[in-house]
Amino acid sequence: MLGEQTEQPFSATEETLKIAKESGLEDIIKEVSNEQNINNPNTLFDIPIPLELIEEDKSQITVDESIKGPLNELLEIIKDKEKGKEYPFLLTGSLKDENAMIKDMKFTFNIQYLKNNFAEINPELLQEGIQNGIKNNYDTYIICHTHPNIPDEEKQKMLASKISPQLREKFGIKEAGLNLSLQDLRQLVAFNYRLKDKLPPSATVCMAVLMYDRTFEAVYIEDGKFKRRQVNYTNNSNIQTFI
Ligand SMILES: [Zn+2]
Repeated sequence: MLGEQTEQPFSATEETLKIAKESGLEDIIKEVSNEQNINNPNTLFDIPIPLELIEEDKSQITVDESIKGPLNELLEIIKDKEKGKEYPFLLTGSLKDENAMIKDMKFTFNIQYLKNNFAEINPELLQEGIQNGIKNNYDTYIICHTHPNIPDEEKQKMLASKISPQLREKFGIKEAGLNLSLQDLRQLVAFNYRLKDKLPPSATVCMAVLMYDRTFEAVYIEDGKFKRRQVNYTNNSNIQTFI
């Protein structure tokens, strides 16, 4: 009989906690869980993770002119406390060729599936966006969503608002919506696992949150750690009119 290679089923939860530990996020997870008496996994994944705690690769990600407009329009919507929701979308492009750039943007939700504050990912739309990327031989797939500005009474209900000022200061935790959550990192881990066999071998899967203060950074996994790169979507259209 061959050696018993009982393969462990993949657990995005366990893998996320493992990578988080390797990335130096163990302290924030431990201390926030202790203070907030968190003992169930769902609440654990609500723990806010400030982007600054993740190692930064200083080279920025550039996006094509054609998608700067839509990204800036989306930013205007999520700044509005009355209108903003959590919208999922996908960015794809090639960052490993000469004119490294994100070229395509696709919304991955149907408006009829809009729940209270968030729009669920429609797997078919996501699949279409990914297929388009594969067809174009793209090497970068960024699964994105927005963190909208929400009314203050809703902000108060979120974990980021309940954490003590001491811990908030210690870890640089910002107000609700301006941090990642451990759940966002779990989404990256899950998609990275699900997509890696379907994409070109050189491809990188990233997760990015467009926040209402205009922060937009892509997080990915490299050497078993979370890393991040800023996405530059500054709209230069006003300047270009004069050229
Ligand atoms: Zn999120």
